[in-house]
This record gives sequence, C-alpha cells and structure tokens, in this order.
Amino acid sequence: MINGVQRIAITCHKSPDGDALGSTLALAHVLRRLGKDAVVVTPDMAPKSLDFMPGVRELVVYTKHEQRARNVLNDAQLLFCLDFNSMKRIDRLAELIEPLKIKRLLIDHHLEPDDCFDLSISFPEASSTCELVFRVLMQMGLLRFMDRYAASCLYVGMMTDTGGFAYSCDDPEFYEIMASIIRRRFDRIDLYNKAMNTFSADSLRLQGYALSEKMQLFPEQGASLIALTKEELERFNYSRGDTETLVNKPLAIPGIYWSVFLREDADKIKVSSRSQGDFSVSDICFKYFNGGGHQNAAGGDFVGTMDEAVERFHQVLADLFPATEQQSTEQSTQKSE
Ligand code: 5GP
Ligand code: MN
Repeated sequence: MINGVQRIAITCHKSPDGDALGSTLALAHVLRRLGKDAVVVTPDMAPKSLDFMPGVRELVVYTKHEQRARNVLNDAQLLFCLDFNSMKRIDRLAELIEPLKIKRLLIDHHLEPDDCFDLSISFPEASSTCELVFRVLMQMGLLRFMDRYAASCLYVGMMTDTGGFAYSCDDPEFYEIMASIIRRRFDRIDLYNKAMNTFSADSLRLQGYALSEKMQLFPEQGASLIALTKEELERFNYSRGDTETLVNKPLAIPGIYWSVFLREDADKIKVSSRSQGDFSVSDICFKYFNGGGHQNAAGGDFVGTMDEAVERFHQVLADLFPATEQQSTEQSTQKSE
C-alpha cells in the first residue's frame, strides 16, 4: 500500500495524548525518510504539555486549520488511522474521512475496532500504538529509517501509555523494543521529565485542591470519585492537559482499585477512569458513559449537568455493589424515620 502512493495522511483520536502523537509523528518521520509526503492531521489541538515532541509544529489541526486539513485529506492517496478504534473518536474529522475513496489502514491497541478499515492491525494486548508502529516497521524492514526523532516519539508513547513503564508492559519483548529505540541516542531523561513530570504551578495547585478537597472515597466498594466543575477549573486557570494524570492518584491508596474523574467541559462532562486488576473500566465507560478504552484505563462523555453525572456514578456503584448500596439506603431510611 505504501509503495504505490506518494501522499499519505495520518490521523489519531481527538485530544491526542503521548501515544497518539508519538505514533503518528514517528510514522510520519519514517515515511518522509522513505521519500513520501506524509502529513499528520489531528481532530483537535495537542496539549501544550506535549509541544516538545519532534514534529508537533507541523501538525495540521482540524479545529484550527480546517481548510488545510480538507486539502491534505482530499489529496491523500492513503490514510493511516492510529491509536483509535472507532470513527466516533475523531469527532468531525470523520465527516471528511468517510467519503474518501482511499485505503484506510488501522494500527491500534483499543478493544473491538470498527470494521471500516481496509487493513486492521489491531492488538489490544499491546502496550501502546507506538509499540505496534515499531513492530510494523521492523517487520517491513524499515527500522533503518527510524531516526532519533522517530525513536523519541515512540519512546514517549510507550512511556506515557504504560504510566511510566508501570502497567501494560509485562511482555519481555516490550524491553527488547525499548532497547532498540534507546540505541537511537536521544535525551531519554529530558523526555521523561517533559512527558511525565512537567506541570504548571496552576496545574499542581489544581491537583492539590482536587485531592485535598474533592476526592471522595468509597472504601467498601474500593472506589474513588473526583468531580471538578468549570468554575473550579477556571479558578486554577485550567488549560488542557492540566489534570492529565489526576485520575491515577487515588489508586495509590491501599484498597482503592477503581477511580473516576469527572471534568466539566463547555458542552459535556468528560469522564476518565482507571482501575487495577480484573475490574474493567472499559466496560463501565461503554455501558454508562458513552465511551470505552482499555480494561484499566478508559473514558467517555456524559451529556448533562455535573450533578447528573455524579448521580450516574452512584448508579454504577449501586448496580455493581447492590448489597452495599442496600445497606446505605437502609441507613438513610433509618435516618429519615
Ligand atoms: P483518558 O482517561 O486519559 O482521557 O483516556 C484513557 C483511555 O480511555 C484512552 O486511551 C481511550 O482509550 C479511552 N477514552 C477516553 N475517552 C474516551 C471516549 O470519549 N470514548 C471512548 N470510546 N474512549 C475513550
Ligand atoms: Mn494508546
């Protein structure tokens, strides 16, 4: 497919994260070295926190450069879809892509991809789409085109999607791949600091506030809820990415294995959820929050008020743990008596 074409477009899910940007940018770097015109088109802006990634300035952002995005896609002869499993995950970009008569190639690690792709390279067990891009390049004999820019992009995706090499990286081959990437000699520590440990003062204060004032624990159910309203976010000059890792924090508490973070956006409540072990937040987000993702990291949207979203969370608790919920209802009946 690549050999037969010159102009290649690459896209990823909305609100791109380290893996979405890492995989698309890395692939673009390699394809350009192969002499192709490769352009990455994202549904919306990359977070400021990732603007250190090599190539990020050449992104064509649909919400910002609508006409350019149209031109790139209309001219493209092949489309790579990276790090998403459904056209719903690319927002209005889907309207542009659906009528295109070009081949669509998926490389992704989310569960149950749509069947609208001409070729699907889908491995939900992979750590990241970046890992899959590496494997594809290796099997195609293209690793010699992986320069240090491509390598550092892959590194960022493999690092961020595993929470800094904490989960989804049990496969020994993950580290063989890592070894090959690190041989490209980029500044690994600098990338770690920028991708994993850089927050603005506002962001740190917002996270401190969320943990100290807003985190609700439900020890009997092993659950945690943090809900931040628009007003609260504005108080801390919220900008995108500021609460990126907040949802993971409650899982540090022994006995808490399910965390939910609700963030009030302009037109909806953004849901973000994490778990430890067999508990599938992907199923929960699919069933209750119009979303999905991975077993231990998922998200979705809730259309309605924050109070209604919190109510929905309590409904999930009640459905999952009917016994404990009964108990609390009894308590409240007793109280009202
Ligand atoms: P985050 O909580 O970091 O926003 O997202 C974690 C994971 O959940 C993402 O990698 C993605 O797989 C999934 N996810 C987040 N938001 C949505 C959503 O709105 N819809 C679906 N289907 N998946 C989502
Ligand atoms: Mn990913």
